[in-house]
Amino acid sequence: MRRTKIISTFGPSIADSEILKNVCEYADVIRINLAHGTWDENEKYNHKKNIQQIRKISKELRKPVAILVDLKGNKIRISDFENHMIDLVHGSEINVVFTKEKKTNNYEIFIDADYCFAQIEAGDRILLDDGLIQLDVKSVDSNKKSLNCTVDKGGLLRSNKGFEVENKIIHRSGLGEEDKKDIKRLAELGVDWIALSFVNEASDVTQAREVLTEIGSSINLIAKIERLQALKQLFWIIKASDGVMVARGDLALESGPGELTGLQKDIIKQTVKGKRIAITATQMMESMISNPTPTRAEMTDVSNAVLDGTDAVMLSAETAIGKYPVETVKAMHEVCEGAETYQESITKNEEYKFSEINNIDESIAISSMSIARNMDIKAIVALTESGSTALMLSRYRTNIPIYAFTRNQDTQRRVSLYRGVISYQYPFLVDSMAEVIQDVRNELVGSSILKAGDLIVITSGSPLRVSGGTNSLRLIHI
Ligand code: PGA
Ligand code: MN
Repeated sequence: MRRTKIISTFGPSIADSEILKNVCEYADVIRINLAHGTWDENEKYNHKKNIQQIRKISKELRKPVAILVDLKGNKIRISDFENHMIDLVHGSEINVVFTKEKKTNNYEIFIDADYCFAQIEAGDRILLDDGLIQLDVKSVDSNKKSLNCTVDKGGLLRSNKGFEVENKIIHRSGLGEEDKKDIKRLAELGVDWIALSFVNEASDVTQAREVLTEIGSSINLIAKIERLQALKQLFWIIKASDGVMVARGDLALESGPGELTGLQKDIIKQTVKGKRIAITATQMMESMISNPTPTRAEMTDVSNAVLDGTDAVMLSAETAIGKYPVETVKAMHEVCEGAETYQESITKNEEYKFSEINNIDESIAISSMSIARNMDIKAIVALTESGSTALMLSRYRTNIPIYAFTRNQDTQRRVSLYRGVISYQYPFLVDSMAEVIQDVRNELVGSSILKAGDLIVITSGSPLRVSGGTNSLRLIHI
């Protein structure tokens, strides 16, 4: 059984139903990135249709595949070029114009971000497309709202690429109008997780939460850590969200190459201790975009994320636009499973100290884990409404499997991201605990996951079916 979860990003490479089905055999979560694609329902592929297709396949496979959607965030992007791209030659001149106009010719770069124009001065360096292309600002024309630049690092520049200014924070803080609109659309479609791009501070997360609360939605929120500014408030961002993503693509642009590994380890550790979900993302199997097997460096990178304690590892372009999406998820599955066998031999020495244990269900989870680790317990079964006991149990990185039995489909999909948790849909039609245990036995012994007589821990609430009501644990020979 693989404990680390796999997130696969949706895109043209897996849009075909058969391929998506094959990917979902291994992937626990499918991610849609709103920075690409469209809501326009006249288009063949649009976000709504894609979400419905994933739900359909999840049903067919009888597997609770969760859907995670990334909001665009306040990343500044250049507008479109008439011919989709321009070629910038080292030493040549180019104007960057701040305008609402969307499409430009081949001689200028347009940007619809008036609010940052005043911050840019002659001598600044502009980073385009994650720094692949760099321009030096020679002079600023305030009347025309344009920057006259020379190309320092040239190359092909495509439409819609990112725009940054070196050593300056030019982006806006807070949740933009487009993101708010997207949150509402996603709540209506009932996705499982929403990831907030370019979070700067905890209030960005709280603002998103307020939008959801206003419309009565309890979708879980992931804060993408991709700016150094967010690290200053990491503790509070973790507290405000349900999980964080180590968004290595953009984070590395700001941190530099040497700091990234340490940051990844720190962020994961703090997140798990903070009782939230940690995702490690970007370029994990990058070479598989065009090759059928991963490099040795990629095998080691994925394994190290597993050993760092991440809940999930994520594939981006590999499955969205890569040539070998199915091979990639399969390779990732194998690497994770292998890395976990090494993990097993070291986890017993590593005890997390959780601050702030003040809920009854959390104390029950902690006690269960303590018993499980000191006796030969084969599994922990959590009878859960909201999944919160399963979350707490999974914060301990042990090799004891956690089975969450829930009657709630949303919970079932949500726990798909929790490391080490496997969920079962269980309708709780019976009223006595003895009957429930009989059902659990039928399910787990019946499918040979456990053997009759195995010692297990069952956590539950009395009365049954109350959210957050877990208040007891039992040791039984199943
Ligand atoms: P992105 O986020 O794929 O939306 O850019 C992940 C990252 O920056 O690593
Ligand atoms: Mn990013």
